[in-house]
Amino acid sequence: SYAGVWFRGDVRLAANPAVAAASEVNSTERAIPALLLLCPEQMREHDWAPIKWDLLRRHLHEFVKDAAEHGIALSIEVIDSWANAAKAVKRFSQEHELTELHFNAEYPVHEQRRDLAVKAVLEDHDIAVHQHHGSLVVPPVITTQAGSMYQKFTPFAKAWREYVSEKGLPSIAALPQRQSVQVATIPEIDYPQRDSSAWDVGEAAAREALHRYLAENVDGYAAERDMPGLDTTSRLSPYWELGILSPWQAIHLMAQQSPNFPAGLDKGADTWLNELIWREFYLHLMQHVPRLSYGKAFLKHTDAMQWRNNEAEFDAWCRGETGYPIVDAGMRQLAAEGWMHNRVRMIVAHFLVKDLMIDWRWGERFFMQHLIDGSFAANNGGWQWSASTGTDAAPYFRVFNPTLQSEKVDPDGSYIRKWVKQLKDCPAKQIHAPTAWLKQRGRDDYPAPIVNHKQARERFLTAFKAL
Ligand code: FAD
Repeated sequence: SYAGVWFRGDVRLAANPAVAAASEVNSTERAIPALLLLCPEQMREHDWAPIKWDLLRRHLHEFVKDAAEHGIALSIEVIDSWANAAKAVKRFSQEHELTELHFNAEYPVHEQRRDLAVKAVLEDHDIAVHQHHGSLVVPPVITTQAGSMYQKFTPFAKAWREYVSEKGLPSIAALPQRQSVQVATIPEIDYPQRDSSAWDVGEAAAREALHRYLAENVDGYAAERDMPGLDTTSRLSPYWELGILSPWQAIHLMAQQSPNFPAGLDKGADTWLNELIWREFYLHLMQHVPRLSYGKAFLKHTDAMQWRNNEAEFDAWCRGETGYPIVDAGMRQLAAEGWMHNRVRMIVAHFLVKDLMIDWRWGERFFMQHLIDGSFAANNGGWQWSASTGTDAAPYFRVFNPTLQSEKVDPDGSYIRKWVKQLKDCPAKQIHAPTAWLKQRGRDDYPAPIVNHKQARERFLTAFKAL
């Protein structure tokens, strides 16, 4: 037997079951052939943010060296269409005379179809295909007693924890020593790039960031995670999304803190674990609810919603000029950093969908085009949760009041001041609704609110109730 690996959204060697399985098959005298396909057309279709591509591009410079050192003979190929993926994988497998190919599953419908096509083609040529679940701790197998997918997060999280208690942690073994091979060439591709250098790259650096976060910062997570001004969340999201880190690594570290893992963690770590479970929940949804991959609402009846879709208002939201400082601060952080704090993501999403009554898909797309951690599953889940078309356990009449949210999550206004320069001298008391303060100073460099929240709320509720 001779095994190869196809890397996709799992650009790492550690805690990668596809790599581990191939490594077990091949004797240590032989290299492990591996393939990574880049497809600019597909990236455009999936709205890859230029900053996300830049992070992957920079990471690849480390990854090719790591792979070579571990005897993984990587080829990086550019293909002009995903429709040609099966052909490229077949050619690669035949060239290396593989008898089996390993990869980690991806869950949206089109990726699953692609993988089925690859499997069919390879099996026709007597090459076995093995799919692993390396980007999830719990594979998408858990269902309710009635056999269906969990529709709500809380029972899902309970089942997730029970599964891990019963089955234990997935095992992470170090790769055996192999002779090093030649370092792969990274082909140039035609895709816009945006500087991602504020983020470290390479598996070692990402692992180090994870270690540091769990050792030094996670304790305060439960109390501070909703305060964007404190900025104390892990900022690890791009690493899970590109598969530079595996959630397996996170839970192994957490399990060292509690012998009864997943029970028995301190409050900070337990709350943080819950967020990793949210990530898994949305990936499971992708697998179980195919219509999500077609841009449809999770709650079918909400697809009938008549959105206002006012383009000028959408532009104001995108530019961070809605006159609601917390919303504008979030959108300006996204423009500047390619990342936004989770609480603010929820606030800006609520605002777009409920106050402006703009289709959540417009916001979902804009986020993907700008986020360094843009994830189809988490982004779609987050938008639908906020739009009340998804899995939020609260009813649709929960409409965030952007001013009250602002007072609550940014009480001293430090987050707003950081991102909305026009308000950098505005006192905390006025900063959440600064129109009067600006007027007193004869200033017109920051807009008045583009909607009246109270009226907008009524307008949304009337439309949504009619569904
Ligand atoms: P931490 O607070 O340190 O959390 C740890 C990890 O848990 C994160 O890195 C992330 O992988 C996961 N996580 C945390 N919150 C969530 C959540 N609500 N849903 C799913 N996973 C979560 N996350 C993305 O990774 N990509 C996206 O494209 C994305 N789009 C979003 C859009 C909207 C409208 C909303 C409301 C949320 C979105 N999220 C998305 C979830 C969340 O905002 C980010 O994962 C989080 O802000 C990343 O920062 P962090 O790494 O510091 O998170």
